[in-house]
Amino acid sequence: MRYISTRGQAPVLSFEEAMLTGLARDGGLYLPETIPTLDAAQIAAMAGQSYEEVAFRVMWPFIGDTFTETEFRDIIARAYQGFGHAARAPLVQLDQGHFLLELFHGPTLAFKDFAMQLIGQLFQAALARSGKRVTIVGATSGDTGSAAIEAFRGLDAVDVFILYPHGRVSDVQRRQMTTPSEANVHALAIEGHFDDAQARVKDMFNDFAFRDGVRLAGVNSINWARVLAQVVYYFTSAVALGAPHRKVSFTVPTGNFGDIFAGFIAKKMGLPIDRLVVATNQNDILHRCLQSAQYVPDGVIPSISPSMDIQVSSNFERALYYAYGCDGAAVAQLMDELKAGGFAVSQGALQALRETFDSGRCDEAETAATITRLRASTGEVLCPHTAVGVKVAEEHLAPGVPMITLATAHPAKFPQAVEAATGLHPALPPRMADLFDRPERVTPVANDLAAIETLISERITA
Ligand SMILES: *Cc1c(COP(=O)(O)O)cnc(C)c1O
Repeated sequence: MRYISTRGQAPVLSFEEAMLTGLARDGGLYLPETIPTLDAAQIAAMAGQSYEEVAFRVMWPFIGDTFTETEFRDIIARAYQGFGHAARAPLVQLDQGHFLLELFHGPTLAFKDFAMQLIGQLFQAALARSGKRVTIVGATSGDTGSAAIEAFRGLDAVDVFILYPHGRVSDVQRRQMTTPSEANVHALAIEGHFDDAQARVKDMFNDFAFRDGVRLAGVNSINWARVLAQVVYYFTSAVALGAPHRKVSFTVPTGNFGDIFAGFIAKKMGLPIDRLVVATNQNDILHRCLQSAQYVPDGVIPSISPSMDIQVSSNFERALYYAYGCDGAAVAQLMDELKAGGFAVSQGALQALRETFDSGRCDEAETAATITRLRASTGEVLCPHTAVGVKVAEEHLAPGVPMITLATAHPAKFPQAVEAATGLHPALPPRMADLFDRPERVTPVANDLAAIETLISERITA
């Protein structure tokens, strides 16, 4: 299996190379050259299998010869053994035809653990074999960073630097990043928004001297291996509700478009998905784009669902690549226009996107009201991101097609918003009950590329 860039100008890589690289050298994102498919019999045979077994069957065709079958099965087993639920991704029913897929039973209580725990094990296996070190740099709106630090803390061959927007992540998110005591973990609080943090990380990848000097590796959702890990739970949940014999739809609380893009890949692999519904908070650039074709960032407004406070949605580039008929030059052109302020999606590409994606937006008051209402009608306590998904999903229910809304974080990760809406303070699971007693360690940084690069060069283990 070979991997190509969405902008068509970067070297073609193997799975291992694409995984260790992250962002392509032409600024694009890696995608498999062809998408392997599973037929109806193969999908039907997933019924009743463990999460790990389905994970192996879904991901194996993408791995090429990077790992043997046994190595890859061991990697999967280690990745998910620390989850707090035997099913890994259990389904809960909310209403007739509406289900919640709980993706928050991993070590940092958000869906990012599904990908990050796997990536940690993949990196360790690949680097142990080559004897090389890498420097992992990531930007986070809160959940990616905690998941990355949890996945890489204490690993020999890796230093991990996470940039988060100072003062704009929840206390639980921040403490999950600042309390690990391992020397290879570095939490950096940047002056600015998530988009600033993400832009500086992209700048570092585009500074080839720095990139090669510190052997930079990326674990943001631009990393193909992360997208791949997220494809698995579309299969487990759809099969649990009757696929391939009936269609299902998904609603996905969306920021960087990574999670929902994994659903798009599942569909391309043959999973009978009817609709993929993009759910945004008040930072609704994706919803506006799917409505109007205009993709024009207009500044982030902080919300009670901070992990979706994004206006430059990296993985949307992957969807655009397919919508433009795999034309890398067209994608590169759009991304140039974005640097100058924004772009308009062509009519043909918009039509292609709308064949799969619907969208909706949920404002702050609606998010809070949804948390209150679902608590009353079902007893379920939703995190604000999940509430955005549930509200938008309710507007897209179709008779005879089950809707699965992705529950992206545990309510205890966002206690203020949940308490304001329900009067209940959601408790952390017992395994992390002492989080607020642990000492914190964090380095403030300016929104300045040169300063950040210097800091990283000084800190890494030679
Ligand atoms: C990251 C995150 C999202 C958005 O996921 P994307 O893949 O960036 O679209 C939604 N909810 C939570 C809780 C998250 O951590």
